[in-house]
Amino acid sequence: MARVYNFSAGPSMLPEEVLKKAAAEMLDYQGSGQSVMEMSHRSKVFDEIIKGAEALLRELMNIPDNYKVLFLQGGASTQFAAIPLNFMNGSGKADYVITGQWAKKAFAEAQRYGEVKAVASSADKTFSYIPKLDKSEFTPDADYFYICMNNTIYGTVYHELPDTGDVPLIADISSCFLSEPIDVTKFGMLYGGAQKNVAPAGLTICIIREDLLGKARDITPTMLNYQTHADNNSLYNTPPCYTIYICKLVLEWLKENGGLEAMREKNVKKAKLLYDFLDNSKMFRGTVVPEDRSLMNVPFVTDSDELNAKFVAEAAKAGLVNLKGHRTVGGMRASIYNAMPYEGVEALVKFMADFEKANS
Ligand SMILES: *Cc1c(COP(=O)(O)O)cnc(C)c1O
Repeated sequence: MARVYNFSAGPSMLPEEVLKKAAAEMLDYQGSGQSVMEMSHRSKVFDEIIKGAEALLRELMNIPDNYKVLFLQGGASTQFAAIPLNFMNGSGKADYVITGQWAKKAFAEAQRYGEVKAVASSADKTFSYIPKLDKSEFTPDADYFYICMNNTIYGTVYHELPDTGDVPLIADISSCFLSEPIDVTKFGMLYGGAQKNVAPAGLTICIIREDLLGKARDITPTMLNYQTHADNNSLYNTPPCYTIYICKLVLEWLKENGGLEAMREKNVKKAKLLYDFLDNSKMFRGTVVPEDRSLMNVPFVTDSDELNAKFVAEAAKAGLVNLKGHRTVGGMRASIYNAMPYEGVEALVKFMADFEKANS
């Protein structure tokens, strides 16, 4: 069996150990005589899975007791509306930083519900940096302050969080979830689609400070009201059971491999290998300013569209797949999430070096 190195931005690679375990348990989950795909979400067996997943997530991320963990559906994109509906309930104002497509979409959705301000943007340079924030631009009575922590398409990340004082900070962490330790107490809410770094598609995880709950607007659909899911331990309706099960296996894998500190070390090492190559190459270059580079998504280009296309095609033939960049950036992008082994990045860098030699 030849498995490829999959550099897709999402859905993306899962740890091989997790896939093997899931395969072994596919027909008969721990003596239940059923696949997790088949069992009732109200069963005792599944209850242990969802509670186990939550407990592991709390342990790995060091989530304080005054935060709720919700396992939802609808993707990160559904939260773009749920966030204003649930939290834009005091002054009716919110601040957003525009660092890419996902922040832009969240901003546009929030505009439908209140007075929303873009306090900074890096659109002027194709989102290749995180804009410097001027606190005097912040809305003092905003109901929340919104950022997209890791910008999947453009490959930037916040290395420093905005100081929003008493205004709750909300962050989309879809593409950096569990990639390194994060101080949950700095946030009112953290959330993300699981399909980048945590599980297959179908699961959205929301971590919400309890005091922010219970204030949703009256018009909020029941299913978009976080209180609904908090009150029912994410079992108000049928949750994405199988995805939650794989999520639990991934969390077990993370714990067995040293948790988030160890993951950060591994991710830094992988990213450094690739960035160092890019910084020394005469053909390839990274598109992001060095100080804002993401550990997870690494966009890069050559000076020729033709060469970019040739690279992507030849890399795929060599088992390095999904390296085409997002259509708004062009070129290439290597997403090197937790499950991408160091050997995968090594193989990519070696392929790039060979390609450079052969084509210059
Ligand atoms: C992928 C992604 C999204 C969209 O996620 P869906 O689950 O497909 O809605 C939103 N934000 C970020 C940062 C992403 O990487």
